[in-house]
Amino acid sequence: MEQVGSHVTGVFPGALVGVPWLHATCGVCEFCRSERENLCLAKEFTGYSVDGGYAEAVVARAGYALPLPAGDPAHWAPFLCAGIIGFRALKLALPRARGRIGFFGFGGSAHLALQLASRMGFSTVAYSRTPDHLALAERLGASEVVRTGVPSAPAEPTLDAAVVFAPRGEVVVDALRATKKGGTVSVAAIHLSPIPTLDYDHVLFGERRLVSVEANTREDAREFLELANLYHLESTVTERPLRQANAALLDLKQGRVTGAVVLDCTSP
Ligand SMILES: [Zn+2]
Repeated sequence: MEQVGSHVTGVFPGALVGVPWLHATCGVCEFCRSERENLCLAKEFTGYSVDGGYAEAVVARAGYALPLPAGDPAHWAPFLCAGIIGFRALKLALPRARGRIGFFGFGGSAHLALQLASRMGFSTVAYSRTPDHLALAERLGASEVVRTGVPSAPAEPTLDAAVVFAPRGEVVVDALRATKKGGTVSVAAIHLSPIPTLDYDHVLFGERRLVSVEANTREDAREFLELANLYHLESTVTERPLRQANAALLDLKQGRVTGAVVLDCTSP
């Protein structure tokens, strides 16, 4: 952080802060007034509704910027957007007692959420079509990894909860099929292709719940960063210069990234 506004207290130039996706909320709508600012009717987003994000410099609101523990900024970058959303999705899905949680699609968001669930004592299963992603999941403590997209016998439901990170509707059905009665499937994707017709009797009946996730609250962000620090969560990062942003996005889309990509905005 280079400069601080004249009315800002408690933070000083030189401190390491993170600027998350959530730029501001209105504070007065029904959602803001009921501790659900993630659903705010007038929220603003970094790099989307306000300038910033893919930029060398950004203006952030003090109440929304997150003080970060010391260390390499590239280590903390994946925790700020992908990480927080994955954390909120995980929280919405968590079983009441210890249990088995599935992570469908294993990229920048899931690689942090799975570590957290493993360290909290849950049994964790990573599902991906990409062998490199599954190898990372094993290294980060997954109890089991499952390669998807290869023919196999239909499995019995063994999960107590599942989080879907892949932006594909058919994966939601796979996750529901793998989840036992009473379990929750939460969808961390912001956009999702259409979900195929659901066979209610077999995939939803039995008090299974299907929930989506919209943005995050500041409390989610604070809680997640505290837990990340407490459990020493490790981010797997490939750094690239800002000018390679488009190529990096293409690699991400085509599954050529393991973990997360961080764009170095200080690099020419
Ligand atoms: Zn609001």
